[in-house]
Amino acid sequence: MTLREVDIDVARSLACEVRSAVVGGFGSRPHAVSLKKVCEAGLFRVVRTSRTGERDAYLVPRSTAGFDVVVRDGAERTRSLARRRLRFALAHEVGHSFFFNRRMVPHDRTCEWTDSEELFCNRFASELLVPSAEVAGLPWTPGSLRLIRDQYDVSLQAAAMSAVAHHPGAVAVALRETDHPTKGRALRIGWKAGEPFVPEHARLGSLVAEAAWVRGTAQGVEELRLGHLNGQLHVEAEREPGSSQVLVLIRPRTQLELGQMELFPRAVSSALR
Ligand SMILES: [Zn+2]
Repeated sequence: MTLREVDIDVARSLACEVRSAVVGGFGSRPHAVSLKKVCEAGLFRVVRTSRTGERDAYLVPRSTAGFDVVVRDGAERTRSLARRRLRFALAHEVGHSFFFNRRMVPHDRTCEWTDSEELFCNRFASELLVPSAEVAGLPWTPGSLRLIRDQYDVSLQAAAMSAVAHHPGAVAVALRETDHPTKGRALRIGWKAGEPFVPEHARLGSLVAEAAWVRGTAQGVEELRLGHLNGQLHVEAEREPGSSQVLVLIRPRTQLELGQMELFPRAVSSALR
């Protein structure tokens, strides 16, 4: 059996089922799903390791029913970021468990691993942590991403991944200041969310982002030429106080905005007549 493209939608309904099986959030966050309850319900046990390796976490079937989720200790700057990354990593590994036959003990894989499985697990994790129906109506702004981050207890990157699905053509990038021995100081891409291709670690070359790095917030229409970000695009950027990164939200201009651009010069020329 292999995972077909269409099966990705199954990730959404599975996440919905798991969410409804573990009612309620935790503490002061009623929207945030309790991964502790998910792990208890699905017989997942978290095992931490300090050994280095490629993956943040991986799943190991136990000799009795259930799985060990082996999680590597990260080097996150803050405890909240470490917790939020752990939540996503756990949710992703829960997704992998659907590729095992639980009727066999220890649980056995039902198919070969493919790239589509990773896509499936990311979609499942995203949907489990942030149900898409609940964030579909939010505007594409830094404020929306902060709201999702705080309400659902996810990283800003996971919040961007959830929100960007509802904004065709949109991209979110986090820029970090880097100092290159020959190329000098530059804001370079740390992470990215959204369909359009953007090369990793590249310079975005956005004046709006540069302004936000200095002033805190900035927005406007500017010409970008990087990967599939091509042409006059709407850019909104924000650097939270004390943060070492600038969050940049990019989207194509709306039909209304484009229409206004066309109408405005005409209005001006007729007024001058
Ligand atoms: Zn994976």
